[in-house]
Amino acid sequence: MFRFLLFAFCTLSLAALPLQVSKKTLANGETTLLLLPKEKGVAYEKVCYKKECFEIFLTPSKQSYYALIPFSYYDKAGNKELVLRYKEESQEKKEPFFIKLHYGNYKKESIHVSSKKVNPKSPEVKKRTAREYKEAIALYNRVTPKLYIDKPFILPLESAITSDFGKARVYNGSLKGYHSGTDFRAPVGTPVLASNDGVVAYVGDRFYSGGTIIIDHGEGIYSCYFHMSKYDVEKGERVQRGEVIGLSGKSGRVTGPHLHFAMRVHGVQVNPLQFIELTNKELLKERD
Ligand SMILES: [Zn+2]
Repeated sequence: MFRFLLFAFCTLSLAALPLQVSKKTLANGETTLLLLPKEKGVAYEKVCYKKECFEIFLTPSKQSYYALIPFSYYDKAGNKELVLRYKEESQEKKEPFFIKLHYGNYKKESIHVSSKKVNPKSPEVKKRTAREYKEAIALYNRVTPKLYIDKPFILPLESAITSDFGKARVYNGSLKGYHSGTDFRAPVGTPVLASNDGVVAYVGDRFYSGGTIIIDHGEGIYSCYFHMSKYDVEKGERVQRGEVIGLSGKSGRVTGPHLHFAMRVHGVQVNPLQFIELTNKELLKERD
């Protein structure tokens, strides 16, 4: 009897906060969303997964709070324990919850490109790619404490998808990671649209991604447009959803012209189409 009472008490005290997880089962490379109600006397702090903690922000409607939790392509399948940290009447509290991660049904693809682009031998190229990688990571890890978006995301162009996110890539016979975005068919010179409102965080030419534009949507969300042939925006410029930001091309490490579209959430490369589907449905509603 005593045991039963103790059990009932524990269960009740744990269920104090009605947290809502939009997607409890997901694949590596996907994102989930935590929605939290406004509660009197409760101040949300962070959501943590292992040592990584994600910030909690007000939703665009300001009716509740949200946190985006991205899982890396390299995360292992299994039950993942996450912990919500918050203060209730100035007392530090923790509430654990679980996500089930499975391996996405990602395919393998073999690509043949000029060997110069696969194993850059020259010290200058090595130096360049290392610098560009370091700069990119620093940029994606920057969390602008302001959300620029309140409408659903759109695709940067209407066209056939030629390569999905997550495909394991074998360049000239050796495995070189996975496809970090979604490729759209686009002849050189196709107008590319901003997927949502934001501030241009980067415009320039990089060894692998060629002509590159990155848009900061705020609160840790970035969209990326690679292999461009022309830029119509400058760094620091505010852009609106649907605005032409430039023209597609075939610059960087490519086998032919296309647009590579990618998204980063809190520094993690995520499946851009799954991210858009999730946030459009749960976080961003069309306004009249
Ligand atoms: Zn691509």
